[in-house]
Order: sequence, then structure tokens, then C-alpha cells
Amino acid sequence: MIDPAAVPSPADAGEEIHELMRELWPLPRSLTGDGLRQTLALVGRLFPLDIVETPSGTAAFDWTLPREWNIREAWIDDPGGRRVVDFRDSNLHVLHYSVPVRARLPLAELREHLFTLPEHPDRIPYRTSYYREAWGFCLSQQQLDELPDGDYDVCIDSTLADGQVTYGEAMLPGELEQEVLLSTYACHPSLANDNVSGIALTAVLGKYLERMPLRYSYRLLFGPGTIGPLTWLWRNEERLDLIRHGLVVSSAGDPGAPTYKRSRRGDADIDRAVTNVLRDSGGAFEVLDWSPWGGDERQYCSPGFDLPVGAFSRTPADRFPEYHSSADDLEFVRPQFLGDSFRLLLDVIDVLERNGTFLNLNPKGEPQLGKRGLYRSTGGGSSEETALLWVLSLSDGRHDLLAISERSGISFAEIAEAAARLREHDLLASATP
Ligand code: ZN
Repeated sequence: MIDPAAVPSPADAGEEIHELMRELWPLPRSLTGDGLRQTLALVGRLFPLDIVETPSGTAAFDWTLPREWNIREAWIDDPGGRRVVDFRDSNLHVLHYSVPVRARLPLAELREHLFTLPEHPDRIPYRTSYYREAWGFCLSQQQLDELPDGDYDVCIDSTLADGQVTYGEAMLPGELEQEVLLSTYACHPSLANDNVSGIALTAVLGKYLERMPLRYSYRLLFGPGTIGPLTWLWRNEERLDLIRHGLVVSSAGDPGAPTYKRSRRGDADIDRAVTNVLRDSGGAFEVLDWSPWGGDERQYCSPGFDLPVGAFSRTPADRFPEYHSSADDLEFVRPQFLGDSFRLLLDVIDVLERNGTFLNLNPKGEPQLGKRGLYRSTGGGSSEETALLWVLSLSDGRHDLLAISERSGISFAEIAEAAARLREHDLLASATP
């Protein structure tokens, strides 16, 4: 059980996560390279994080791991020598994975390399070109509209060369060898909800999990989207049966309602646990069925692995208007919502930790609760009593506590508490050998 005294309040956790987000924010993250490494170094201050590097060109399943990209500067000078776009102002200003360029060219030609969001003229878009060699800049439509005709000097001082694909991996050991996987992607630059929020939330969660006694072992992964999980799956294929539950965490701090996307299995324990927690959270929420698009759950749930991994977010990444633009900033993401996500994930972990299947040891007729002091209240029908009766009624070795909570409508915490009391009175025993 998660001891509430061992974790901060949602409000304090929200502030702590937002504080870490502010530190992570400016780092020039990309699919590979030093910005990603710096990000992992910050996370590694909170708990021991192994940095795993796999060379470019390695074949991982159907993929060839990409070259490593690093960038030092990128800018555009107008015909008057004025710097009109500078990577130092925002790391969104460059098309990620741009090949190096140093050129002087007229505006008409330069325009072919400029990306804007005409429908949001004050925002800088986020664009990548991971798998096609290109160079370019991203800027607001307003900036573009102000550019005078003439010849422009452009510079992208980048390196795209054989190097490493990097991810960070932490193992927080529990009593069991079986693992809960928490995975988030760390390849987006200064974009707050998608997905600095996911990195910071998972990191702060890991910090507190590391300090508490746990039943499961917890494996935390921070890496580039798609190729990070692919590389990890490829390197760990022979031990994947240890993964009993998993979540991909992203977009965790916007004002939208919490959203859960089921694993491909659809009825895995993690699907039931998250749905149960959201049901009893007291707020609005959405549960989506599996679909083969979205985030890293696509790799974990591909049919060759079929891991029980769902996806937790608030508004899913491509469904908020600020998505992949400079409007997805530190103001858009609020401590309040980060704290709420933190609380929900801890509640899910608490369900995973405490769930189990039990046997009623007095299944012939109801046991007499009164003589055991299990009727606490004077009148019958209190919620505590109801929970006791539900646990006794369904503990036939086929219903776990989650199923009892689902069917009774009583919160998992109350059901688990009732089961604990019945065990104390030798009315219930674990059905798992
Ligand atoms: Zn994204």
C-alpha cells in the first residue's frame, strides 16, 4: 500500500513537477544527441538512471537506428544584416534533423525552407525531418510576413553523423521480480505538455517510488519516441514476460480531463486498474479503446509483444490546439493538473500493488461478523459493512479485488481495506499460491 505520508500532496507534487519542467525546458532535445543526454542527466539526479547507447545503423527489428544529430547554432540574417531568426531564442526555430547549411540566397528560395502555421500566425511550429535529409527553419507567420525582399544569410551549424541512440532506464526493485513499466518520450524540444510534462511527472513519480517498499519492481524508461521503445524491446526481448503492467505517460499537465487509452488486449489488469481509478476520481475522464496510432504504446502492444501497456495522458497529444507549436509552453501546463495526474498515477500504482484474488474461508452461509467485532457501526448497511459483504460474497478464487470493486461500485481502497480486515480475522486467505 502506498503510504500517503511518504508522498507529497497533489498540490506540492504539482509544484515540484513544474519546477523540474522549468529546468528541462530549455534543453535542445531531439531524437538523439546531447540535448537528450542532458535531459537524462537531470532525471538521473532523482534516482539511479542507466544511460543505454546503441550505435546508429544497428538493425532493431524492421528499423535501422538513425544517425545522431547535434546542433550548435542556427540563424537567419536579413539583407540588412539583422538576425531575424535565432535558435538561441527558441529551439523550435530549426527543422529538427536539419543537415548543416551555410548559404546566401534570395527570399523566394529561402521560403522553400521556412515553415509557419498560417492559422495561428503568432506561433512557431515544431517540425522534424528524421528520415529524409533536409534543412529548414520554423517561424511565426507574422515573422515571415515582415521579411523584406533581398538576399539572406543562413546558417545551420549541425552534425548528422553516425553516433548513438540514447535512452535512460531505471530499475526500482520491489519484492517481486515482475515489473511495472512506466515509459515516456524525451525527444521533443521546448514543448511543455507534449512532452516535458511526461518526463517530469514520470521522474518525480520515480523519485518517490524509489523510497518506498513496493511489491512489484518498477522499470522507468525515458527515450526518443518510437525508436527508444523499439531499441529497448530489441535489447530486452528475452525478458519481456516480466512486464506485468505498463503505462506510457505523456501530455500530463494541460487543463483537459484525464484520458486513458486501453492496451491492445483491452482487458488487461492495467486497463481495469486505470478505469477503476478514474471512475472513483470524482472528476471527468475519458477512456478510449485501443487504436494502432498514438504514442509508444504502438510498439509495446504490437502483436509480437502484446504487452499489457496502456497510455495515460490528459488531452491526448494531437487533440489540443497548442500541440506542436510554441503555444505549448510553461503557462499552458499548470501545477494543479500535473499534481492531479501525479495523484491518479499513484492511485493506479496502489491498485496494482494491493490487488489480489482471495478465498472466503467460511463460504457456507455468511460468517457471523458481529461476534468478531466487524460491525463497527450501530446500524446495519454502512459502507464498511457493505464492502465486507461484497468481499466475502465474491472471494471464490475467481474474482480479484478489482473485480469486486467494479461489480459493487465501491472504491478499490474500501474493498482492499475490507479484505485486509477479513484476513486479520482469518475469514479470507490469498488464492494465489
Ligand atoms: Zn509530439
